[in-house]
Amino acid sequence: MESQLRNVIIIGSGPAALTAALYNARADLKPLVFGGARWGGQLMLTTDVENYPGFPEGILGPALMEKFRHQAERFGAEIATVDVTAVDFTKKPFTVIAGNKSYKSKSVIIATGAETNWLGFPNEQRLIGRGVSSCAPCDAWFFKDKKVVVVGGGDSAMEEALTLTKFATEVTIIHRRDEFRASKIMIERARANKKISFILNSEVVDVLGKDKVSGVKIKNNNDGATQELVVDGMFVAIGHSPATEIFKGQVELDEKGYVIRKAKGNPSTLRQAQDSGSTGAYGMMTSVEGIFVAGDVHDYHYKQAVTAAGYGCMAALEVEKWLENQR
Ligand SMILES: Cc1cc2nc3c(=O)[nH]c(=O)nc-3n(C[C@H](O)[C@H](O)[C@H](O)COP(=O)(O)OP(=O)(O)OC[C@H]3O[C@@H](n4cnc5c(N)ncnc54)[C@H](O)[C@@H]3O)c2cc1C
Repeated sequence: MESQLRNVIIIGSGPAALTAALYNARADLKPLVFGGARWGGQLMLTTDVENYPGFPEGILGPALMEKFRHQAERFGAEIATVDVTAVDFTKKPFTVIAGNKSYKSKSVIIATGAETNWLGFPNEQRLIGRGVSSCAPCDAWFFKDKKVVVVGGGDSAMEEALTLTKFATEVTIIHRRDEFRASKIMIERARANKKISFILNSEVVDVLGKDKVSGVKIKNNNDGATQELVVDGMFVAIGHSPATEIFKGQVELDEKGYVIRKAKGNPSTLRQAQDSGSTGAYGMMTSVEGIFVAGDVHDYHYKQAVTAAGYGCMAALEVEKWLENQR
């Protein structure tokens, strides 16, 4: 496996990577997937997934990822559950180091995802998927007629809160300062919504509940006083960290560390891009020819399993085309 020159190496094992693996395997490219020691991605952390098409009754996150993996392996994708520790994209063929071994490949798909920035205490981690979430579009539905808190002060916190008001009866935004990073318009929208209230200068210091969230403990940052709030859910909206440490200096990243999809020739419409044979900003190529990207590692906007899978499909099809054109 080590000495062989691969057509494509896929780094990651969430919906993006495993969809790319499925497509590339079915195109007979024999993809090698480095899925990481914690394979399966973010959905391994959650319980019910009810918005992935094809599962009308819903499916548990880990069960869904088992199916993704099984389907990719059925067509010959090789999946190694080791972390990639370094890459060299400056020379072709590209080099990928994993498990202290060096692998060469004509192309690479980066699908390492992004991790939620959690508050970081044990009860929060224990109750993820049991009332603790970081994704209102995914989980708001479960909080019909319930009370929830949203932690954060940026645009995404406001957005999460507004989404939750469609289902929850009360949404309390808890923010550690009295000023927001969120844009004025988002703050105004949140303030105008009767279901939303604010607790400022305060931090959540613990989540209460045995099998599911029953409340949160809050500390006031001015006087140190603590109080308990009875709620059914806590949405953490303090950002995500893309898993791109190993790609620094190898492909262009934006200021937050997300991989940039690079336009070639600046096409202004998708049709123009496709006509010129380069999908550019509409495609999945990075700043390096032959290195592609898919999923939450470049997409800080939609952050859904189905969009990550869609991007994985796009990247795989582009790899196939690109390899054909290299001959
Ligand atoms: C608690 C929770 C609940 C969610 N619920 C839903 C839901 O109900 N519906 C929905 O559509 N979305 C949901 N999401 C969002 C969804 O999980 C993500 O949008 C999706 O998983 C992104 O897929 P991805 O393939 O881009 O990356 P990820 O799922 O983040 O997977 C990336 C993988 O790459 C691996 N990796 C990282 N670095 C390396 C490396 N150096 N070497 C090898 N492997 C590496 C990681 O370990 C990880 O396994 C939820 C997210 C969370 C956190």
